[in-house]
Amino acid sequence: MKKHNFNAGPSILPREVIEKTAQAILDFNGSGLSLMEISHRAKDFQPVLDEAVALFKELLNIPDGYSVLFLGGGASLEFCMIPYNFLEKKAAYLNTGVWAKKAMKEAKAFGETVEVASSAESTYNYIPKDYTIPTDADYFHITTNNTIYGTELHKELDSPVPMIADMSSDIFSRPIDVSKYICIYGGAQKNLAPAGVTFVIVKDDTLGKVSRYIPTMLDYRTHIDGGSMFNTPPVVPIYAALQTLRWIKEQGGVKEMQRRAQERADLLYGEIDRNKLFRGTVINPEDRSLMNICFVMNDQYKDLEADFMKFATERGMVGIKGHRSVGGFRASCYNAMSLESVQALVDCMREFEKLH
Ligand SMILES: *Cc1c(COP(=O)(O)O)cnc(C)c1O
Repeated sequence: MKKHNFNAGPSILPREVIEKTAQAILDFNGSGLSLMEISHRAKDFQPVLDEAVALFKELLNIPDGYSVLFLGGGASLEFCMIPYNFLEKKAAYLNTGVWAKKAMKEAKAFGETVEVASSAESTYNYIPKDYTIPTDADYFHITTNNTIYGTELHKELDSPVPMIADMSSDIFSRPIDVSKYICIYGGAQKNLAPAGVTFVIVKDDTLGKVSRYIPTMLDYRTHIDGGSMFNTPPVVPIYAALQTLRWIKEQGGVKEMQRRAQERADLLYGEIDRNKLFRGTVINPEDRSLMNICFVMNDQYKDLEADFMKFATERGMVGIKGHRSVGGFRASCYNAMSLESVQALVDCMREFEKLH
């Protein structure tokens, strides 16, 4: 039976990315050695890193003056590297979920941290709109896609201070205006590569402005100077990321990724809204994520949740259980998700409705 992989992360990757990476693990560039057993300083590996950086810049239209880094530690380590490198006196955070809250928690150790707004009181099922960003903040931190709750910021915000964004789960799903940000980061395991590498896009001339000592490994300048090779980089995830970036380019770039994401989301949200058994969990349609689509059984059908899970699992659906804090279901539809797989889930929902 064909499996339809709706996992939230680590998650679906294009089949050819997996095949090419598997091939390189067996024999890297015809060298007779595995990608896993060569030096990261081998002459064949540098072009992998260079091309990945170049494609990052090309696909996201990154202006001059920004560096692209591939680091370890996940988005979670960036939560502390951000204030280490950018927070001198005050930082502003928009609390749209557990990841945003974890980022904010780290900042508190470095300076005054202002939560400009929060939707915690209703399990983060909307994105706050009315708030004031302090004009004397060093930066304003946002999470563009809230993986657990299925909310997403679809429009670039206006901020009086430089913005920093966690884009772990929607990077490369749409065009972004990088010039609005001094730093964009994320774990690669949602939309780019297997777990093990973190991408960071950072504006060079915004570094070196804080007065504290920054430990070497946590200082972005170390990794800019070292070309992401200050220490041994995770070569296998970086190689896979390069294959994904090539794939995105071949498919038509981030605009095409956005078109496909919209098409998938229209299909699935359309069914959620139509089907009497289900309802979406996100209040405002404009906040609905194109990447993580969350829904629950309608109140009068609550008892059918376990039955639907079993029904869908038997038909090849994988990873549709909602996060424990939200319950219900979550279908993560990252770039590599085909419309056919979403259609298969929709068919499940229709068949199940007929039974009840
Ligand atoms: C998954 C996720 C994280 C955590 O990433 P790690 O790489 O596991 O640290 C942070 N932010 C968002 C939005 C995520 O989806």
